Amino acid sequence: AGGAAPPPPRQCKLDPKSELRVEVPPDAPLRVRLVAGTAEIFGTELPPEGWVPIPPRSKIAIFTWHGATLELDGVTESEYPSEETPMVVYVNTHAILDARRARARAAAAQGGDLEASQGPRVIVVGPTDSGKSTLCKMLLSWAAKLGWKPTYVDLDIGQGSITIPGCISATPIEKPIDIVDGIPLEMPLVYFYGHPTPSINPDVYKVLMKELAKTLERQFSGNAESRAAGMVINTMGWVEGLGYELLLNAIETYKANVVLEKLWKMLKDAVQSKPNIDVVKLQKSEGVVLRNSKYRQKTRSFRIKEYFYGIANDLAPHSNIVNFNDVSVYRIGGGHQAPRSALPIGAEPVADPTRLVAVNISTDMIHTVLAISYAKEPDEIISSNVAGFIHVTDVDIQRKKLTYIAPCLRDLPSRLLIASSLTWYEA
Ligand code: ADP
Repeated sequence: AGGAAPPPPRQCKLDPKSELRVEVPPDAPLRVRLVAGTAEIFGTELPPEGWVPIPPRSKIAIFTWHGATLELDGVTESEYPSEETPMVVYVNTHAILDARRARARAAAAQGGDLEASQGPRVIVVGPTDSGKSTLCKMLLSWAAKLGWKPTYVDLDIGQGSITIPGCISATPIEKPIDIVDGIPLEMPLVYFYGHPTPSINPDVYKVLMKELAKTLERQFSGNAESRAAGMVINTMGWVEGLGYELLLNAIETYKANVVLEKLWKMLKDAVQSKPNIDVVKLQKSEGVVLRNSKYRQKTRSFRIKEYFYGIANDLAPHSNIVNFNDVSVYRIGGGHQAPRSALPIGAEPVADPTRLVAVNISTDMIHTVLAISYAKEPDEIISSNVAGFIHVTDVDIQRKKLTYIAPCLRDLPSRLLIASSLTWYEA
């Protein structure tokens, strides 16, 4: 930094079962290359030849089971090897899940019932920065490498890894997760909550979890292969109070039968007494990087930017204009169900947290993200998944026109839009 010459390419020799931890700065490129041996980044093997670009702001570990020599070219904020990793325990966990998948597949082949043919539904819980998303990625990539197609379910609306923040989503993982491109985005099933924390409207969060679960159950019932491969579910880092309640809710909603706890013992009593649920406590890796709330806020903002501009800033979003009349914007939640005058004397109006409210387009919407619903009618919005997102760049009240950017040029696939509290400011 500061105009200094970048460091020259350098080699690093790793002992078996050790890893090189690397933090990439926001603006300087880094690439790595395997010179000898084998190595993987969070479950995905490095190719035997060629340079692999590591995206800016990544914090990664390049792990080797049998030893490796790596070459790094570019700037890092830190790079150091470590032999203290929980990888052996993680891969043993993977092996147990693999056996359960095989058992489910065998049961399906013998015409077993839905219960027996259901593979593991693993839910990973623990505080923020305990390495939950990373563990999910490893379990998914290892499973995919063996030919399974597990479903990744991401309930983390704060730092989701499938699409922009404020969403809960699911997607099948058919091959090890790409080091550069991340989770594949061809067919994610996305439900839009619209805020980075569940406390704004926990009832809506629960309803959306249910809707996503319902859709997945429907898909699984017609697809023995995905059913046997099961799910890996990532959760929010909020593990107290309401966060805890929502976790128990998630375990129930997704019928999770394996709970992987990262450094956290609270769930044990609540869940372990139930039959058919295994709770496994796992070590956190010392390599997991702590991120403060400001950093997380920034990451959220980058995730939104990435959606429109691509990870490597290689996409050009399109700017479009619509008339106010051509779209309808709704907000989920808020408002009162019935006016006081319509209620029996003495009854208090109750806010219906899942009520749909039509929103007038105003300049307040500038810089916010709107989701495009697949719903055909407004009352289907809460039970429908979303097609994608637009970012409002201008609102002209006088001429009744809204300007937005979208990742592609084609017209909006639907006129029903969902408002959110997610903002992003183009720098
Ligand atoms: P959580 O999902 O629990 O909030 P993450 O899995 O996102 O935590 O991990 C936090 C950060 O630490 C991420 O940027 C991740 O890439 C990084 N990280 C995880 N494990 C390691 C490791 N062994 N070495 C270096 N960085 C790591």
